[in-house]
Amino acid sequence: MKAIVIGSGLGGLLSAAKLSGSGYEVEVFERLPITGGRFTNIDIKGYQLSTGALHMIPHGPTGPLAQLLREVNADVTIEREDGMAFMRIFEDIGNNIYEDVPFAKFGKVFSLWNRIKLAFLMITTRKNTPKNCSFAEWLSKHLDTPLAYQMADAFCGWALSLKAEDVPAEEVFEIFENLYRYGGPGVPIGGCKAVTDALADVVRNNGGTIHTEKEVTEIITEDGKAIGVIIDGKQHPADLVISNIGHHYTNDLCKGEETDAEYQKYLDRVKAIKPSAGAKICLAASEPLIGHGGVLFTPSARRVNGINEVTNIDPKLAPQGKHLVMAHQTTKWERIPYLEDEIDLGIKDLEEIFAGKDYEIILTQSHYNGWPVNRSSSGSDIGNTTPIEGLYVVGDGAKGKGGIEVEGIALGVKNTMNLILG
Ligand code: FAD
Repeated sequence: MKAIVIGSGLGGLLSAAKLSGSGYEVEVFERLPITGGRFTNIDIKGYQLSTGALHMIPHGPTGPLAQLLREVNADVTIEREDGMAFMRIFEDIGNNIYEDVPFAKFGKVFSLWNRIKLAFLMITTRKNTPKNCSFAEWLSKHLDTPLAYQMADAFCGWALSLKAEDVPAEEVFEIFENLYRYGGPGVPIGGCKAVTDALADVVRNNGGTIHTEKEVTEIITEDGKAIGVIIDGKQHPADLVISNIGHHYTNDLCKGEETDAEYQKYLDRVKAIKPSAGAKICLAASEPLIGHGGVLFTPSARRVNGINEVTNIDPKLAPQGKHLVMAHQTTKWERIPYLEDEIDLGIKDLEEIFAGKDYEIILTQSHYNGWPVNRSSSGSDIGNTTPIEGLYVVGDGAKGKGGIEVEGIALGVKNTMNLILG
């Protein structure tokens, strides 16, 4: 059996590794000269920046991605510093007076009454997940403090690149459940590239082939079944086609299905998928600015949602003795035309958060349209199947429920592999 994978991002490579290790002949076609998509490194002045992700795996060495990497024998080490996520709560921004409150104890900043309500809600929502409202709407019903919104926006902005008003409460509680189940974030040693390179090695060791600079221009279908792809005008037959480019772009490659009623229903669901956008500001520092390898959420900031300093876990991600610090901020779609202003506000945030510290901005990046933070924002995923038999979608355009970012990719790939391999 032959499988063709369109795209060599994390989702495509995980699928290729699993299928090539399960007896499939696998060919991966990537349009860029490099593999890894939004999960690989860019070397700038010896700092290992990235094409997308902030070198963080949301559930570290115990989450769904780590489990899948082990399952396919990918040689990756993920390290986690336990308990290392904090909310920076400012008492006086001008005078730089703040407290870094451990994430697990964030409720301590609330009034006694709100703390009691929070403890009650934590228990009841686990049994009775709120439905049909956003996380912000759910909060407004239960906690009467602006700080709760700011914290929710910081968490959703960092973890999902969304405002709390744009995520279904149900999805956020599923994510919290996964945080209890799998634990907090970790950093892959060597950064994102170490993960996607290890997967590419697995594919090749299993006899699979990865072609770069090969753009798939059409998915060939016959009687409602995917039977191959077209590249440079040439047909490449296959029994299975796995697309790593999201439902929207996958549909653009399928010609002649539009008249089918089932396909029309699918298209309506595809149209409802919303991507998430954001921006990243990368700093080089001579001294640690955070001092731990976890996340610093910044609820008081204008734009920045959170910051990490991955060199506390893997010093090789920066030149010797230096630190790499990355700040992330979500961007609402209506603010995309004003991205420069958005990034300027993020830079101002960092000037306040790191007042008096010595650092240099080495890169700012914005992510939207064809290179977003997520092709399908959390809560708008529609699954891995398509109405075309033998055509599946993997990656962050088809994440599993409650899966933050790459953990959602791993859950989606697992789901797809269960459908294909049983
Ligand atoms: P992609 O990486 O986009 O791979 C798809 C590949 O398909 C690309 O290489 C593309 O070139 C190729 N392609 C497209 N069209 C074609 C075609 N027609 N033919 C052939 N090839 C094609 N996630 C985390 O877990 N932790 C983080 O810290 C984190 N931070 C992030 C910060 C930012 C700023 C961004 C942008 C993302 C972040 N993410 C994070 C999300 C994570 O990076 C992505 O979810 C993940 O990398 C997406 O992988 P993918 O396989 O879905 O798609």
